[in-house]
Amino acid sequence: MERVASDDTKKELVQNKDSGEVSSNQSKVVYVLGGPGSGKSTQCSKIAKHLGFRHLSAGDLLEAEAESGSNDGKMIREYKKEGKLVPSEIIVKLLQKAMQESQNKNFVIDGFPRNEENLSAAENILKIEPNAVLVFDCSEEEMTRRILSRNQGRVDDKIDTIKKRLNVYSESTLPVINYYSSKGKVRKIDAGRPIEEVFDEIKGVFSELNAGQDLGRKESTSN
Ligand code: ADP
Ligand code: MG
Repeated sequence: MERVASDDTKKELVQNKDSGEVSSNQSKVVYVLGGPGSGKSTQCSKIAKHLGFRHLSAGDLLEAEAESGSNDGKMIREYKKEGKLVPSEIIVKLLQKAMQESQNKNFVIDGFPRNEENLSAAENILKIEPNAVLVFDCSEEEMTRRILSRNQGRVDDKIDTIKKRLNVYSESTLPVINYYSSKGKVRKIDAGRPIEEVFDEIKGVFSELNAGQDLGRKESTSN
């Protein structure tokens, strides 16, 4: 039997609560990072559907706030038009609210933290220590191709903005990846492959987590 099947695994995790496995019955947080078009939203939807995690997308939360027409929303729209990252306090507020309101306390968070400012807000305000950080590895050519064919009317899916977003991603997210790498939490995912193949690799990482292992903890005990 596959260990990652969500319902069975959840039952098993609850039953194992006295077995001494530290994280098996606690809330889990997995970050998913990757360039625009690398497939974060696609894979996170599958993680939510098949692995029982609540998917929170920084981009979708921002988009919803922008749609609401609030003052924060107007600011968000300006930043996105320029292909820039929105200030951390705005995104943190939205994430905090979504996490508090959620019944499901296992989260897969898509597109956050994307820079050092986000990272310190995650640690100091949200106080999140992720169990794992998935980093989607995909060529710029493939990401551009996917974004241009996504065409869902997003204000930032224009060819001149795409190049900027790819640069912002590689420059600002790298320190975040390095930071979690040094804690042994990063799993690089080859995201240039077909959707199902990428998901198979991801399932492997989640089965490690469901086995009660914090990726970082596993690494540090082997040192
Ligand atoms: P992100 O959230 O990282 O910006 P998306 O999940 O929105 O990326 O994917 C961007 C586009 O690429 C979507 O149209 C999606 O259907 C498509 N896509 C996602 N993953 C793959 C894949 N592995 N192979 C081909 N196309 C993909
Ligand atoms: Mg997305």
